[in-house]
Amino acid sequence: MRQAVMEAPGKIRFEEVAATPPGPGEVRIRVRRIGICGSDIHVWHGTHPFTPYPVIQGHEFMGVVEAIGPGVTGAPPLGAQVTALPQIVCGKCNPCRKGRFNICENLKVRGFQADGCGRELYNVPAERLVVLPDGFTADQGAFVEPVSVAVHACRRAGDLAGRNVVVLGAGTIGNLIAQVARASGAARVLIADVADHRLDVAKRCGVDHAVNTARQPLDEAAAIAFGAEGFDLAFEAAGAEGSLAAAVSTIEKGGQVLIVGVYGRPPVVDMSVVGEHEIVLAGSMMYWREDWEAAVQLLSSSVTIAPLVSRHVPFAEWPEAYRFIDANGPATMKVMVDL
Ligand SMILES: [Zn+2]
Ligand SMILES: [Zn+2]
Repeated sequence: MRQAVMEAPGKIRFEEVAATPPGPGEVRIRVRRIGICGSDIHVWHGTHPFTPYPVIQGHEFMGVVEAIGPGVTGAPPLGAQVTALPQIVCGKCNPCRKGRFNICENLKVRGFQADGCGRELYNVPAERLVVLPDGFTADQGAFVEPVSVAVHACRRAGDLAGRNVVVLGAGTIGNLIAQVARASGAARVLIADVADHRLDVAKRCGVDHAVNTARQPLDEAAAIAFGAEGFDLAFEAAGAEGSLAAAVSTIEKGGQVLIVGVYGRPPVVDMSVVGEHEIVLAGSMMYWREDWEAAVQLLSSSVTIAPLVSRHVPFAEWPEAYRFIDANGPATMKVMVDL
């Protein structure tokens, strides 16, 4: 089988290796589709702080069950469409003992600190599998992981019913948070970005209100979208200091700001406003299995992905996908690798 090894930043070597049979408790998946994520691009550029090389990338994928290892009970049948959570957790640290496996002290993520799915055949522990419904497309299967990020962020915010919500950043994750928030009962959702293409994609995905904050400040756009009601929940998915500052200064007193973005350098936030306004700042990191199961349901019902897919490339042209993303910047969203 072939696998894509990133030997160093910007250098992927395809190599032919013997397939390893699935070990005890493992299932072998024939990988069909891989989604490329923003963090994968950081690994390609050598700017991901926690990824050693060489590494086999890939953590957003779907495939079909091809073989079942010894000792596996209750595995999906051969040929079933599946995806799998990429986290490797210790189960022993304090967060793990509290059930918060996503923030395990010894967390490793496949595709970063352990080898990922960038190969034709991928062995994963059966307990990590999530079965996809019949009729799910390969793209939908590869979207379960990023939708789960959005589901977890919404879960961290509590009950969304009837609330007005702002999402800062209309990249893939921001877009999906906006869609999941709406599906979770939010009254109205305003999404903000500085790239018209991303806002256009958000509108095509059914997001009610979109603002280009390079042309209109957030407070003005929020006044138009929500009137006197304002908003009491914001998701910062841009990883930009200016977005975070705008969220903190514009949100209703007592509101919640969920941090989903990744910041290149530590952002400055006016903490006296946070204190005086009783604003709740909370983080959101990856997901739990429940989030994956919810994501599958949402992809079956209300989350639209077609406008988010910018391009497909064959497996052998994976490096071309990175070049395409670099060349097109915010005019590109999700690029898929087909096997
Ligand atoms: Zn991802
Ligand atoms: Zn742990």
